[in-house]
This record gives sequence, C-alpha cells and structure tokens, in this order.
Amino acid sequence: MRTDARFFDGEIARDHMAVAEITAQGLQIEGLDVAQRIWSLSGLTAVTPPQPGYPFRLSHESEPGARLVITQEAFARELVARAPHLAGGFNPRRAGRIAAIVAASALATAGVLYVLLSYAPQTLAFVLPDSWRDSLGNQVEATLANDGKLCATSAGNDTLRRLAARMTEGNPEIPSFEVKIYDLKILNAFALPGGRIVMTRKLIDAARTPDEVAGVLAHEIGHVYHRHSEAQLIRAMGIELLLRIASGGGDTVSSLAGLLAILQYSRDAEREADSFAQTALVHAAIDPMGFKRFFEELKKLEGSGGSGGGLFDAMGDMMSTHPVTDERIEAIKPLPEGVAARPALSDTDWQSLRKICD
Ligand SMILES: [Zn+2]
Repeated sequence: MRTDARFFDGEIARDHMAVAEITAQGLQIEGLDVAQRIWSLSGLTAVTPPQPGYPFRLSHESEPGARLVITQEAFARELVARAPHLAGGFNPRRAGRIAAIVAASALATAGVLYVLLSYAPQTLAFVLPDSWRDSLGNQVEATLANDGKLCATSAGNDTLRRLAARMTEGNPEIPSFEVKIYDLKILNAFALPGGRIVMTRKLIDAARTPDEVAGVLAHEIGHVYHRHSEAQLIRAMGIELLLRIASGGGDTVSSLAGLLAILQYSRDAEREADSFAQTALVHAAIDPMGFKRFFEELKKLEGSGGSGGGLFDAMGDMMSTHPVTDERIEAIKPLPEGVAARPALSDTDWQSLRKICD
C-alpha cells in the first residue's frame, strides 16, 4: 500500500513531497528531494494521535527531528493496524468540529497561513497571542500529568522561584514563566509553550550540586526567551495546531513520546539557549562549570550506551531533546576574572529542592 505524503527533514522548515509505502521491511519513504529510506515500524512514534480528518504525523527513532505527514486515512489506518503502538486516543466528535472550522475558514486565508507556518515558524512563535500560548501550554502539560506526578512543596517551589529570579533579574524581555518538577520516568528538562519549564525528578537526583541544576534551568529559560517550543510545535503540526487551539484544544500531542519527538531542538536552537544560559549564570554569579560538568556526565553516560541502569537508562533523556556535543561543552566558559562565584543555592534550599517529590 502506498500514498503521497509530506516529509520534513528536521533541518529546513519546508516540507518535501514524497511517496510512502508499507513494505515488508517497514515504511519506505522516497521523493524527488528525499533520498530513499526505510523506517522500521517498531521505531515509529505518533507525533499527533491518529484521528479521522487530521493529518497523521510520524517521527522515527533513526532520524530525530524528521517527520512524515500522511493525509490518506486508509493508509494511516493500515499503518496503525500493522503498528498498533501508534494508536492513540481518538475522538470522532472533535474531528467533526475541526472539519466545520476548516470549512468555515476561507481557503485563501488558509493558503497564506500554510505558507507562513511552513516558512516562518520561529517568527510566528513570537507573535502568537499570550492566551493561545497559555492554552497550548495547558494542553501539552496535560500529557505530562498523564505520565507522572507533579511534585510541589512550598519550600521547594519557593527555592525554584528565587533561583529563576536571580538569573533573570533586570531583563524585562524574558516572558513570565513558572518552573515545575514532575516525577517522570525520564531524566530531562523542557520548556513548554506559555512559559512553563519542567524538570524531572531524575534530573534533580542526578545533579551533584545546585550549580548543575541552575545551569540546566538557565538553558531552559533560554528556550523560553527564544520561544523555541512554540516554534517546534508550529513546525511539527502546522496549521492543525492553530485549528486545535481555536477549537478549544484536546489532544495536541499524543503522548510523552510524541512531545519528546516534537521538542528535539536544532543545533542552532541549542546554541542560542546555551548562550543565553552562559549570560544568565554570569549575571547571577553562578559558576557555569557546574553546567559544563553536568553535560560532560550526560555525554559520558550516553557514550557508554546508556545502559548503566538506574538514572540514565530511560528513553527520552536529555540527550534526545537537547543533544550534547563537544562543541556545546567547549563553549561553556568560567566566570570572568573578578567575578566571585556564589553557590546557586544555600544548603537548606538545596535540601528542600531535593525533597520536593517526597
Ligand atoms: Zn535545549
């Protein structure tokens, strides 16, 4: 079985026309500007849940960032039948509502939007109304709440607030944001739309010093500052994203795996967030070497195959969404001469943060 499809390589925001075919080896993709590749069925992730009336968006473990968009429903159904792990929640009533909205919107407007969404996701990310950003953030955070529990203590939350304030003090261009800890199966940190930063319990457990947590937090604030997560969602979902917001939301991403597939940042985005982090840490007189050490540790564990067990064996760890490279590690510089380091947190605050999930 074969169908026309659109393929995003993950580097250029534009899509390419391609033909997708289900073969004995897996999903074969090929097009004029798309070299032939075969995606194993077991390695596929549904970026958005398969639903009638929606394009079906897939990513594959072998090509982080790349996506295949299928609009032919019979093909999508066949694919889900062969790879049942792709099936997600499915809601025909909502699909009807979306279809009505699409029918009501003028085709010309849709065409302009399509072009904008395809070519300028990063620019659009900046002009999204705050209420949309927030509604999007709510929907995306709901997928996290499905996978684990929100950790909160008044002392722990207060500690996070003060640490974030210290690093952003005096910079009015940073949108307001909130930092939350979730107890999930993965070691990761991410910025969600609408100014939400999430760090996982495993990340806090893995950090040996508060300076390491401060570095990761500063990096995520950099993603918030640059609206990288909004841009990634626009890239991944295109016009459908706006329709989902307009229709009152629902299943924006299919699962935590779907969310992680979307939040795989480009090298440029990672560089921007790192450079923001470096400045924020220096501004707060927090030694950036903690951040550097944390990266080195992650990279070492990744190099060992990530099979060391315990904290680092989970799928979807930081390396998948914020790939750590030697270039990134090298770019992190110590505090300039004459700036005396102050610890990111007092011992008391560090203890309260470490106990936030207890
Ligand atoms: Zn990042």
